[in-house]
Amino acid sequence: MKDDREIVMSGIRPTGFLHLGNYFGAIRNYVKMQDDYNCFFMVADWHSLTTHPDTKQLKSNVHRVLAENIACGLNPDKVALYCQSHVHETAELYLYLNMLAYKGELEKTVTFKDKVRQNPENVNAGLLTYPVLQAADIILHRAKFVPVGKDQEQHLEMARNFVNRFNHRYGEVFPEPQAFNYNQALIKVPSLDNTGKMSKSENQLATLYLADNDATIRKKVMKAVTDSGPVEMNSAKPDYIENIFDLMKLVSSAEVINRFEDEFNNCTIRYGDMKKQLAEDMVNFISPIRNQVEAILQDEKYLLQVMETGAAKAIESAKATMLQVRKAMGLQYY
Ligand code: AMP
Repeated sequence: MKDDREIVMSGIRPTGFLHLGNYFGAIRNYVKMQDDYNCFFMVADWHSLTTHPDTKQLKSNVHRVLAENIACGLNPDKVALYCQSHVHETAELYLYLNMLAYKGELEKTVTFKDKVRQNPENVNAGLLTYPVLQAADIILHRAKFVPVGKDQEQHLEMARNFVNRFNHRYGEVFPEPQAFNYNQALIKVPSLDNTGKMSKSENQLATLYLADNDATIRKKVMKAVTDSGPVEMNSAKPDYIENIFDLMKLVSSAEVINRFEDEFNNCTIRYGDMKKQLAEDMVNFISPIRNQVEAILQDEKYLLQVMETGAAKAIESAKATMLQVRKAMGLQYY
């Protein structure tokens, strides 16, 4: 059936438990977009191999990411929810795009430089060309919108460059993909200790995971960095305080947020009370998701069916694009 809605694509690597950064930066928008757009969302298992070559946990991690997306409200009947490695056309497009990506620009990518610093023993070509594979994932479905967090901004800019080079050299095949957050700036959820961002594999004690139990959530929130409070009325919030307000906006009622905003503005705020409130609201937000994830994970048959149906939708779209790509590139010889 022809779908005239605008196309959306995004993915999450199965490198560990999903956290509030993934939720805020990505999944919340996936769920919002699923009714109005033609959506392709995938578990980026090939991407995870660039930093996590040990595949012993991969299957359970893939299942978990799928279950976590569904538990957050993604409906596999409304979107294509699939696994990257099931769509082999991705590898072909990745190869073509590699000819349009230059070593110099790849080496300058911030995420590449970060990963080289973190793991100098494993600077592999897959890591260098990570943004090329990501561009292939996106444009394989000719997607226009890519709901992602702020850390992906540069990768999206690179994807646009590859698209423009392709279109310029071989003819207009691809639209330019844009990072998407409903006309708002892209989001970065900082870690609770304010030393970096929430992450699947770093800053684990300062990251809130959708799998954290109630006691762990409370402990982590209470340890969030604060200070002794504002001394001037209506002053600007330091970023670590803004972060606590941002987390609160995700899970607390407008009434609660307004109360703490007022207290901040008139310098009567007690951050201990604010964190206690946030911890309880977080527990109420995370615990139903966590329980739902556990229930979904028990039903492996359902997860396999989700992956199969999702792959079929993604492969159909990928095949149609690749026909256009090969034609445009002059790779059809008979
Ligand atoms: P990754 O965990 O790197 O596979 O990223 C999956 C999605 O979550 C991407 O759209 C990221 O931009 C987003 N994301 C990851 N960490 C954060 C964070 N701390 N804040 C906001 N978005 C994030």
